[in-house]
Amino acid sequence: MNGYGTIIVGGGASGLFCAAALKGGKDVLVLERGERAGRKLSATGNGQGNVSNLHMSADHYFHQSGDSRGVLSRGLALHGREDMLAFLEGLGGLFVADGRGRVYPTGKQASSVTDLLRFRLAEKGVRIAAGMRVRSLRREADGFVAEAEGAAGAECFFARRVVLCTGGSAAKNFGTDGSAYALATAFGHTLTPLYPSLVQLKTEREAIRGLKGIRAEARLSAFAGRGREKRKLAEERGDLIFTDYGVSGDAVFRLSAFLTDRLGKEEISLSAEFLPDVSPERLLRALRRKRAAFPSLADGELAGGIVNNALGRAIARRSDGTPEGQAARIKDFPLAVTGSLGFDGAQVTKGGIPLDEADENLQSRLAPGLYFAGEILDVDGECGGYNLQWAYSSARLVADGIDGISGRQER
Ligand SMILES: Cc1cc2nc3c(=O)[nH]c(=O)nc-3n(C[C@H](O)[C@H](O)[C@H](O)COP(=O)(O)OP(=O)(O)OC[C@H]3O[C@@H](n4cnc5c(N)ncnc54)[C@H](O)[C@@H]3O)c2cc1C
Repeated sequence: MNGYGTIIVGGGASGLFCAAALKGGKDVLVLERGERAGRKLSATGNGQGNVSNLHMSADHYFHQSGDSRGVLSRGLALHGREDMLAFLEGLGGLFVADGRGRVYPTGKQASSVTDLLRFRLAEKGVRIAAGMRVRSLRREADGFVAEAEGAAGAECFFARRVVLCTGGSAAKNFGTDGSAYALATAFGHTLTPLYPSLVQLKTEREAIRGLKGIRAEARLSAFAGRGREKRKLAEERGDLIFTDYGVSGDAVFRLSAFLTDRLGKEEISLSAEFLPDVSPERLLRALRRKRAAFPSLADGELAGGIVNNALGRAIARRSDGTPEGQAARIKDFPLAVTGSLGFDGAQVTKGGIPLDEADENLQSRLAPGLYFAGEILDVDGECGGYNLQWAYSSARLVADGIDGISGRQER
């Protein structure tokens, strides 16, 4: 049986960051079930790699479990955006932010980030064993035995420490189908409820009839509850794309992070404000002028040209047809949310191993020597580079713990 100092299970974002940050090299083994490490990382940000955000803070993250050690804030304070960019630029990368604060490699290729990490691992002598799916993990002597299955059959590996970087349940085409949680629960760890996040939303069908394929800019708000109990959850501005099942587009993706854990528990609705840069008064004046110019125009044609024609017909159908009614509907187009496209459509998993089951360096409190980094933990971020930042920050906390670097020294 091959022996190592540290086995990292999962060669995704956090696994590669952790292996790259660890002091050791030849005594580190990365076991990745896919044919290549970093496949998801290379696909992030529509292939452009949105690795972090200028507006970084714990406010952009969600967790259901208690964070008694403030590990999320600690990770961002010790190994936040600046630290991540210094680390990657130290390897020869170069990064810039766009107008929304989203940080990308200057070449706009996510694969360039994967390459930097792969080159670093090769320099250090870290072994990446791809096509090896870890089936079980057990304690033995002063370490752990990982049993992995590859094309040539099963193989066992021993290490004093194991880092689980196996991601969550979202986007199973990248090797993350949720099956690896069992490696942690076998040691008594629990999971908070899991939900898909950064995902398309299903809505009532009648409201979106005839709109499939229409893309419009909107200020999109999400609400929970009904009547006087109704409260706003979040608001995002961006593209809204109508589909046959509901809505997609970047504004929807971003909003989904605030609501998927509430679906089925309370009423969730969206309100789209179209023409967000046109005042309600100006919009109403235009619709009145059009009605005055063409008194016999069908109600369904009135808003056409001011908004997309098909959208104009849906707006007329969902209003009393008057210029006043249509203007109001353009500014408040309600959609009841009935579900999401689930983990297959999602980019991220909400929920995971509770933070209070690990110490400040993300070492298991139940199985010393076992560590966690990335999406496997009960931390998910908003859309915009926050999830890769967490993959980095958490991986660095683990590397600090393994290498015996205290937070004080690190600063
Ligand atoms: C299409 C897409 C685009 C995204 N874009 C962005 C973006 O632009 N910015 C951003 O911040 N976030 C983005 N994300 C989210 C981000 O990629 C993830 O949050 C991040 O990769 C999580 O890192 P991780 O290391 O925890 O898990 P992952 O990167 O998912 O890696 C987990 C790895 O573990 C492996 N694995 C699983 N089980 C086993 C096992 N039993 N044995 C061995 N290996 C195993 C998997 O094959 C996988 O390679 C995107 C996600 C998707 C799907």
